[in-house]
Amino acid sequence: MATLPVARTVKALRAEVSRWRASGERVALVPTMGALHPGHISLVKAARRKAERVVVSIFVNPAQFAPTEDFSKYPRTFANDRAMLAVAQADLIFAPTVEEMYPEGFATTISLDGPAKAGLEDVFRPTHFAGVATVVGKLFTQCAPDFALFGEKDYQQLKVVTRMARDLDLPVKVIGAPTVRETDGVAMSSRNRYLSESERAAAAAIPRVMKETAEQIRGGAGLSTALKRGRAALEKAGFSVDYLEARNADTLAPPARGGGDKLRLLFAGKIGATRLIDNIAV
Ligand code: AMP
Repeated sequence: MATLPVARTVKALRAEVSRWRASGERVALVPTMGALHPGHISLVKAARRKAERVVVSIFVNPAQFAPTEDFSKYPRTFANDRAMLAVAQADLIFAPTVEEMYPEGFATTISLDGPAKAGLEDVFRPTHFAGVATVVGKLFTQCAPDFALFGEKDYQQLKVVTRMARDLDLPVKVIGAPTVRETDGVAMSSRNRYLSESERAAAAAIPRVMKETAEQIRGGAGLSTALKRGRAALEKAGFSVDYLEARNADTLAPPARGGGDKLRLLFAGKIGATRLIDNIAV
């Protein structure tokens, strides 16, 4: 199989995308930080269904990691990623250096407000979404895709990026794709490789407890009772729970009193040194 081309600069990316556009082809972008797994590949396949050409960006974005987080030890598996993307029939990898993305003197940040950004991850990672929005905004203007695919795995990120694209009139359609899970229900994540065997086994409590909690909510148990029970069950499984919350599935605003909202249940917590997030529809 021919090796998949890699653009290292914005100039090289734009040259390739312009050639496609000149022949009337549409372009879909799948932003990633690499360390690819079948969850990422499902996005590439969804992108293929939308557009004639698929660009996958691989960039571990320092701006979205706090100094205490895992930027330097984040897994980097480029050769393997490239082989997986060739099989998945991506057309181009965009893998810029940090200097290409953030040249000397870089001074502009996209910051957000509103219910999509407030709370949840933002409480525990207060600089995270500005870093995400800035890099995704840059990727959108660099690549100028018709479509951009994001996983529901990072549900708040999907909502934040959707809001940003709308607010800044970026001519790209942001599309969410369902979370791909292991056979025991654990959401695939590049960070799962940090888990010890016993931690990995304990992680199965996340989808199980979220499902039970969602069932209780649907069954009419009070929201706070169901969430309290779920939280206790996750703690019993060994998690230090950052949050287990139900939010409006579209806006991420806290649900209105008296019910009626379509809800999304969102979780984040730590087991050992590893922080995991997940979410499901109620
Ligand atoms: P990351 O490389 O972890 O930043 O993720 C890149 C993209 O892949 C994001 O849009 C994620 O939401 C998405 N993604 C990560 N894990 C999964 C998964 N298990 N299922 C579906 N999408 C995922």
